[in-house]
Amino acid sequence: MSTKYVFFTGGVVSSVGKGVTAAAIGLLLKERGFKVAVQKLDPYINVDPGTMSPYQHGEVYVLDDGAETDLDLGHYERFIDIRLSRVSNFTTGQVYAEIIANERRGDYLGGTIQVIPHITNEIKRRIGLVAKETGAEIVLLEVGGTVGDIESQPFLEALRQLRNEVGRENCLFVHVTWLPTIGATGEIKTKPTQHSVAALRSIGISPNMIIARADLPIDQSLCEKIALFCDVERDAVIPMTTTDVLYEVPLLLEKLGVGDWVTDKLALKATRKPNMRPWKKLVEEVRASKPAVKIALVGKYVELQDAYMSVREAIKHAAIANHVEAEICWVHAADLEKDKGWEVVKQANAILVPGGFGSRGIEGKVLAARYAREYKVPYLGLCLGMQVMCIEFARHVLGLEEANSSEFDRSTEHPVIDLMLDQRTISDMGGTMRLGLYPCTLQKGTKTAAAYGVPRVEERHRHRFEFNNTYRDEFHKHGMLFSGMSPDGKLVEIVELADHPYMIASQFHPEFLSRPMKPHPLFVGLLGAAKGKSGH
Ligand code: GLN
Repeated sequence: MSTKYVFFTGGVVSSVGKGVTAAAIGLLLKERGFKVAVQKLDPYINVDPGTMSPYQHGEVYVLDDGAETDLDLGHYERFIDIRLSRVSNFTTGQVYAEIIANERRGDYLGGTIQVIPHITNEIKRRIGLVAKETGAEIVLLEVGGTVGDIESQPFLEALRQLRNEVGRENCLFVHVTWLPTIGATGEIKTKPTQHSVAALRSIGISPNMIIARADLPIDQSLCEKIALFCDVERDAVIPMTTTDVLYEVPLLLEKLGVGDWVTDKLALKATRKPNMRPWKKLVEEVRASKPAVKIALVGKYVELQDAYMSVREAIKHAAIANHVEAEICWVHAADLEKDKGWEVVKQANAILVPGGFGSRGIEGKVLAARYAREYKVPYLGLCLGMQVMCIEFARHVLGLEEANSSEFDRSTEHPVIDLMLDQRTISDMGGTMRLGLYPCTLQKGTKTAAAYGVPRVEERHRHRFEFNNTYRDEFHKHGMLFSGMSPDGKLVEIVELADHPYMIASQFHPEFLSRPMKPHPLFVGLLGAAKGKSGH
């Protein structure tokens, strides 16, 4: 049987939840017994988002194989509960890099290289890889950005061609748009949606389904209007009002008949009835009134919460498991250095220091780690959060005042965090960190091992610097436990403080493996400890 494709395009504005919608529909199809795969096409020129500032792009999501990808891949993995690979995300930069390398090798001698067919062929080849690699029956494919963007043209053209090659009956185009509201009258407008559909049709694509997003309830007459003006079947206009609970999206789409509609249109037969009960229970649990716990998230990019997307979701998952309401209090690390923001830290039931790069805010994070240690406030450190926990410990417990990471002070006398040997000769910045899944053995009797409940785990990494083994004995003597190590014993992966209710930090990023129904043990442990901690 040929692979079926569901293409997601965006209209009117970006950030209306196209990724979440694709992820939720993926779940509805998986629940019907289909093997689904997902792919995100990013029209920007960077080879991957790894070199972009989180302010530009939000979080960089890391996969098992070390691919640095768009944060939408996090939505796909969390909703559908699948593990994706490198082929699930590519950019214009990757496409051009490949074609230019071919050209230099002489593959097209005598020819002129053009967007059509060379670039569009390469886009189609990469789309084909997903079905080939995963054996999926349905590939859900999201095009980043908004219809009309100059960069997305070759991608849409490639989809148009692909539709003709694989057959119209095997493809669906789902267009996700935004319905703005006019402030004074509260009237919801469909005109921008009509224009975005017109733009899509001008390049030869007519959407089969329109998912219209709005902050206010969308009434029937508006759906009828969209159907008429955009030439889409009435039952394929899906009104999606903003919900306060992200994980309700699949339930809403299922209620509106999207799962059945897609299945029927692709002429597929579901092998089982979707069981949405666990999701219903999850949403009920989120909505139930529960005791609140405050988590101070001490970060560098806190104005843009998308920069910490997976961390935020992992906290939510762990809160559900602990039957508490997690209130994330965003703290600018740099503020703490200027004696600001402390009232938030002091009120928090737990402190979390996430990953990051560069020296801005480092001293503030060290202060937060010191506060957590001295006042025995539950603490979870993620990657950089682990490194600052070690720097703080070295400075204030071991008395090595100059201790630092060589990332922030190249000539520090005590580089307790230092560049890995194999990183010293690397000069390229893109894709050269320690990336992806690595095994880690847990030390019996530690809080870490108790939290995980298994002797060995595999977690996703994204960093250049490591704990410097020269200091291991000294740290250990003073009460720092190396509760997780690489199996060869060479790399410190998790540390915890012996004399503390819960001060644990990992060199990897546990947030990437947390799922709504499978919360990550280290986050569950943090929220559990926070629950028991009222005021300090
Ligand atoms: N900047 C640190 C390193 O490269 C931490 C990276 C991170 O937090 N992801 O090791």
